[in-house]
Parts: sequence; C-alpha cells; structure tokens
Amino acid sequence: MRLILLGPPGAGKGTQAKVLTEKHGIPQLSTGDMLRAAVAAGSEVGKRAKAVMDSGGLVSDEIVNQIVSERIDQADCANGFILDGYPRTVPQAEALSGMLRQKGLRLDGVVNLKVDEEALVRRMESRVRETIAAGGKVRADDNPESFKKRLEEYREKTAPLADYYRGTGELRSVDGMADMKAVTAEIERVLETA
Ligand code: ADP
Repeated sequence: MRLILLGPPGAGKGTQAKVLTEKHGIPQLSTGDMLRAAVAAGSEVGKRAKAVMDSGGLVSDEIVNQIVSERIDQADCANGFILDGYPRTVPQAEALSGMLRQKGLRLDGVVNLKVDEEALVRRMESRVRETIAAGGKVRADDNPESFKKRLEEYREKTAPLADYYRGTGELRSVDGMADMKAVTAEIERVLETA
C-alpha cells in the first residue's frame, strides 16, 4: 500500500501513520522526522534546514524531494509506505509523481484529514503539555509564533494539494475530528472503496 496523508499541522497525520504502519507492516515516511534527524545529526542538510524549520517555514523542495526519493529506494519500502508531511507543495507533488513513474510505482490513494482550525492550536498546546509531563523535549517549532507560521504555510502552499489530487482522481477526504480509532477505520474504508 502506498499512501499519502494530507492535512494541516496537528491534523493527526503522524498518529494515523503510526497505526497504519503497524497494521500493514509498512514504514511511515515522515519528512519532518527525517529532517529533525538530519538536524540532530548535524549533517549538511540539517544545517541548511534548521533555521527555517524552527521558524515554521518550509524547507526547499529540492532538499525534501531528494530525501524522499532516496528513502523510497530502501528495502523496507518494497511493500509500500505511508508519506506523512510530504508532498507539501504542488511542485513537490509533481516531483513525487515523476519519481514514482520513474521507479515504476503507483499510489493507492491520498487521504485528506479535515480538521477545524481552532482544534489545531489546542492539539499543539496539549501535545506540548503531554511532552513536558512525560519529561520529553518539546519541538522547537511547537510554540505559538512558529505554529501560526506553519498554519499560514499550510494554507498557502499545502491546502492547494487537495485540488491537485482531486484533479488526478486520487483524493479521499476523511473527518479528522472523529476519535482516533474512528479516523483509522474511515481511512481504511475510503481506501477500500478507491
Ligand atoms: P507538522 O506537525 O507541522 O506537520 P512536520 O513534523 O511534518 O510538522 O514538519 C516539521 C517541519 O519540517 C515543517 O514545518 C517544515 O519546516 C519541515 N518539513 C517537513 N516536511 C516538509 C516538506 N515536505 N517540505 C518542506 N518542509 C518540510
């Protein structure tokens, strides 16, 4: 199964990707996680990405396209993968389409998680509280200012992807406000009827 999870920051893409990963035995490819790992490792990509990520902006298409293309070639992606946080711009979607074609792969669907905007800020705030309570490290971009910027970037650059994938006939919309299990069930349902 090859799947894209689309939706604003805080929509639950990561949460759903983890559940689907376990159920289907395929990896979650989160460009956010991959970029955070690059930052932590102090690699060249990490150095280029850190400031823009902390502020809530988007890393260049060129960098993320390259990371994803290389990741898809790894052995654990042979039976499929769940893209979480990629593509995030129309040029990324076009690049993905080109790389899949080149690799002889096909997407099974694009799931758009729809969530009310006020809920997103609350979810980010509760994620921060839970992380602190658990003694973990809060993400550098989980603060009100960067979150606002992430939402703006989403509206301006990522939301148009819904139309893009509606155009290709691949878009499946799911209500991301339902409880976690119901959202998972709905994702599986829309993919079956695809
Ligand atoms: P979110 O919770 O906002 O969905 P992610 O963990 O997916 O967060 O991404 C965190 C940050 O990593 C983004 O704000 C952006 O700076 C960078 N990033 C992740 N994926 C991409 C991408 N596909 N294109 C550009 N930047 C990305």
